[in-house]
Amino acid sequence: MSNELVAKDAPKTGGNNGGLERVVREETRKDSAVTGTTTTPERPPEPGKRRSVYQNVLAQFGKASKLLCLDSNIAKILATNQNEIVVHFPVRLDDGHVEIFTGYRVQHNNALGPFKGGLRYHPQVDLDEVRALAAWMTWKSAIVGIPFGGAKGGLQIDPSNYSKCELENITRRFAFALGDNIGAEYDIPAPDVNTNAQIMAWILDTYLSTLPPHERQRNIHVVTGKPVAAGGSPGRDKATGQGVVFCIQEWAKEHEVSLDGATFIVQGFGNVGSWASRLLVRLGAKLIAVEDVTGVISNENGLDPDDLLEYVNVHGGVSDYPDGLPSNHIDFLHTEADIFIPAALENQINAETARWLEVRLVAEGANGPTDPEGDAILRERGIDVIPDVLCNSGGVIVSYFEWLQNKRSESWELEEEESKLLKKITKAYARVRDKALELDTDRRTAAYVIALSRLETAYQERGIFP
Ligand code: NAD
Repeated sequence: MSNELVAKDAPKTGGNNGGLERVVREETRKDSAVTGTTTTPERPPEPGKRRSVYQNVLAQFGKASKLLCLDSNIAKILATNQNEIVVHFPVRLDDGHVEIFTGYRVQHNNALGPFKGGLRYHPQVDLDEVRALAAWMTWKSAIVGIPFGGAKGGLQIDPSNYSKCELENITRRFAFALGDNIGAEYDIPAPDVNTNAQIMAWILDTYLSTLPPHERQRNIHVVTGKPVAAGGSPGRDKATGQGVVFCIQEWAKEHEVSLDGATFIVQGFGNVGSWASRLLVRLGAKLIAVEDVTGVISNENGLDPDDLLEYVNVHGGVSDYPDGLPSNHIDFLHTEADIFIPAALENQINAETARWLEVRLVAEGANGPTDPEGDAILRERGIDVIPDVLCNSGGVIVSYFEWLQNKRSESWELEEEESKLLKKITKAYARVRDKALELDTDRRTAAYVIALSRLETAYQERGIFP
């Protein structure tokens, strides 16, 4: 647990070395144990086992790199996570006993900028999932053209099992265990599933406390998605949902669909799902079914997402919401609607469930909701997909705005952030649409091709050290 040997692929200073060198050094802080980088794709899941999300990434990556004829040396680099950090740390809980927690931070690539990506608290978090999420972050930033690389992290816990005080202690100890594996110009966490602005504030405070006083203020961009009073930006909370809706508006324009009166269903009513629902309803669309971890509710006359959110904030989920009829997962996925927004976890649309969907568009708010088999079936059935790496990129775009404001000691108005987000995401939407037409391929592959060619150019221009 403490003072363990660290194997880490990038030098701490010297920045964006996207190479494959491996450096082994003593960790200077307690609690860190870093495993070596792996390039070995995992085997397909055994029957009955959870599907490897990282396998999905490698399959998507393989398809796009073939189409692009990606340089084989660069393909090797991009199929590899640069650093994989695993920390085990003890925390004393309210009743006095000590529990050991396991946390991850995977840094996929920083050729285009510092590592960037969320932290997830969920019982299913494991290295496989975090590897996949980290790689998606690299592609996402490259597609929308912001100077970040990709990373992701998480803790394998169910936060609902802990008190607020315990969660604070777990979070602070996790941040301390990560130590200088995160940093304002090196690796910048943000919220993801079951983490929020409060968690980011605790990480910020813990991280800054480890720095000399004169270094603190100029490092507040070590996390994004902070509370506004702690240096966060006004548009970050809604940013991912807002980006999803901007993409849906672009799709609607392209296909001459009116969103006024269009119907939609949402899986996951947390940050992304609730914001996307509220913003889409403001455009006249009708939310007719919602699924979250507590159950499914439906109402063909339309659910009020603002009221539903108030209910969820009090009751912890959508189940038993008085204005909705109780339903189930299978019926939810069979609901006839114009748009489906998956905004929960990975692998929800697969070879089986892709055949159930009765929608025109899947707008992927979640990361990795569709596996490669599900993707092929959606395509065959003529269901449009706005891929996650584009559709949910609003979060990282506005995180970039927050990071920039912190670096420049600026504070932008919400309207300014929103108009900049609109510009960036609609440009990226158009790039992906045009690339898909040019290559006669699906939009996910087209988005990957855009990302991979940007990364390829960066490596070709800079070379591979030494
Ligand atoms: P969140 O914790 O705020 O909400 C997650 C929602 O998913 C909750 O409503 C939860 O009940 C639901 N859920 C969990 N397990 C479920 C299950 N098995 N079936 C149905 N619903 C389930 O998380 P979030 O921040 O909204 O993230 C949702 C997705 O969006 C994730 O894939 C995340 O990686 C992705 N994403 C989030 C952001 C962001 O800014 N928060 C940015 C980009 C992508």
